[in-house]
Amino acid sequence: MSNQTKQIALIVGGSRGIGRAIALKLAKSGFDIWLTYKGNHEAANKVKAEIESAGRACELIPFDVSSFEETEAALGARLENISPDVFVYNSGISRDNLLMWMTKEEWGSVLSTNLNGFFNVARAVVFAMLKAKKGRIVVISSVSGQIGQAGQVNYSASKAGLIGAVKALAREVGRKKIFVNVVAPGFIETEMTEKIPKDQVLPLIPLNRLGNPDDVASVVNFLCTEEHMYIHGQVIGVNGGLAM
Ligand code: NDP
Repeated sequence: MSNQTKQIALIVGGSRGIGRAIALKLAKSGFDIWLTYKGNHEAANKVKAEIESAGRACELIPFDVSSFEETEAALGARLENISPDVFVYNSGISRDNLLMWMTKEEWGSVLSTNLNGFFNVARAVVFAMLKAKKGRIVVISSVSGQIGQAGQVNYSASKAGLIGAVKALAREVGRKKIFVNVVAPGFIETEMTEKIPKDQVLPLIPLNRLGNPDDVASVVNFLCTEEHMYIHGQVIGVNGGLAM
């Protein structure tokens, strides 16, 4: 392990929406950022510029999390020398359809990105964190993984899978001072939720508004920076009261 002085946060899926807000918030908390994304170079470069203007360094690492080989090629060598202090798994997609109409591609692409992608990245990161004997891991699931959502059998399965994975991992690595938790957002205003009919959704939310990416980022920031930490293996809902 190298003599690492700077604090590094690895944000997987940091180019847009919630991931972007998390990257900016953690940069403001003093972390240099390793920012991964799939292919939206323009969006990623904008976030990099914002992080640099906040006085932190940002490295862009594009790869497809659903590919074990691409993940290994993108992260393997750097994780041999450096263990990030923080790892946020945020990348995710939705391909909604009723189960009776759902295609193999809709099922497979969502599970590959949201759940297999977590395995592909976490396996390498946890190995590095175990050697460093410290780390904070936050996985972005969804209220759909907690209570289910019609039209999202694939997405709900992937997000519930992440909750199970985190709880098991928390039992594996807690003794090594690696904290692992889930943040489960409700409806958050990003490109993913652009088409949601707000008039139908708002009556379900006691706070009577959709969330914004900063609402999620501030909770992630707390879990990654709080000194007095006894939260481990938990699922923290950020949903305006939609599920409780
Ligand atoms: P966005 O669609 O705005 O951003 C998704 C991010 O994931 C981008 O950085 C994207 O990279 C990256 N990504 C997607 N697929 C891959 C892949 N195969 N390999 C690598 N990176 C990938 O999503 P949101 O900000 O809305 O959501 C972020 C997370 O929060 C997701 O996991 C989502 O499921 C979850 N969530 C969102 C909610 C919401 O209401 N928005 C509610 C509950 C949970 P690129 O820019 O290159 O495409």
